[in-house]
Amino acid sequence: MTAKIIDGVALSKAILDELREETAEIKKKYGKAPGLVTILVGDNPASISYVTRKVATAHSLGFHEVQDNRAADISEDELLAIIEGYNKNPDIHGILVQLPLPKHIDEKRILLAIDPDKDVDGFHPMNLGKMLVGGDAVTFLPCTPAGIQEMLVRVGVDLNGAEVVVVGRSNIVGKPIAVMLGQKGKGANATVTLTHTATKDLAAHCRRADVLIVACGVPGLVKPDWIKPGSTVIDVGVNRVGINEKTGKPKLAGDVDFDEAAKIAGMITPVPGGVGPMTITMLMKNTVRSAKKHLEK
Ligand code: NAP
Repeated sequence: MTAKIIDGVALSKAILDELREETAEIKKKYGKAPGLVTILVGDNPASISYVTRKVATAHSLGFHEVQDNRAADISEDELLAIIEGYNKNPDIHGILVQLPLPKHIDEKRILLAIDPDKDVDGFHPMNLGKMLVGGDAVTFLPCTPAGIQEMLVRVGVDLNGAEVVVVGRSNIVGKPIAVMLGQKGKGANATVTLTHTATKDLAAHCRRADVLIVACGVPGLVKPDWIKPGSTVIDVGVNRVGINEKTGKPKLAGDVDFDEAAKIAGMITPVPGGVGPMTITMLMKNTVRSAKKHLEK
């Protein structure tokens, strides 16, 4: 068997086209574009690259996008004051603080300072709590798990009663996707197992999975014989495994042995080009949602 490759780039493009139309409608109706500010502290090359892509995507949709770059030695209080300014700014509907922050700044304090109604990353404890409640309570879902769920639904994976195994329990991927897919309702209703470094016989859990979601940051951890034939494999891992000699850019690999897994799975995401593009797309979707909610008030 050769797995169908789930093309995150094509799926993202389709969703971004929908969001571009929604943005044009919002502008027509309210005379204002969805406003997204991206706050970058310091000059971490990976962070600069992520922020540049986010800002370019926002621009391509017709958002009012603000890139707010600050020096690495900015104080925590100064950063808090900047966030407070954006909390009060009626032209801004989404606030994103690029992580990680320099060590002298308390990330938790910064994330707590963002107005939960503008927290388009979905990391504020208020929004994580609403995600846990589910249904109508949800305001913003965290972007990577939201992208995974949207991807599964759009490629037609039936999650109702499916055995889902998640490898990794981070607050940004593993825990939220486990909660989201276990909720009662459409595009969810799965039986979810959340695994981690203390899990006994990880391979046996993975072999039961109709949908295997791997977010552990260990290149090639999931071996081909851990995969149930015909299952769907979502590889969230992004690991630098050397340098591409032709381009001079980092070579990326996921947490799954892709070439071998693709011979067994029914569907699989590549790295890069799978979950990654969906994450930025969901950030844009959250911003459009936020703009609508604010402008309708
Ligand atoms: P993380 O904070 O790096 O934590 C890793 C998780 O995996 C932990 O829960 C850890 O278990 C578990 N783990 C590590 N080694 C394991 C092993 N050998 N067996 C079982 N579980 C193991 O997680 P993250 O931030 O979600 O990142 C995971 C990967 O996803 C990284 O490669 C990251 O770059 C990537 N990522 C990609 C996107 C995207 O948009 N594509 C977004 C976010 C993250 P313990 O809790 O027991 O330590």
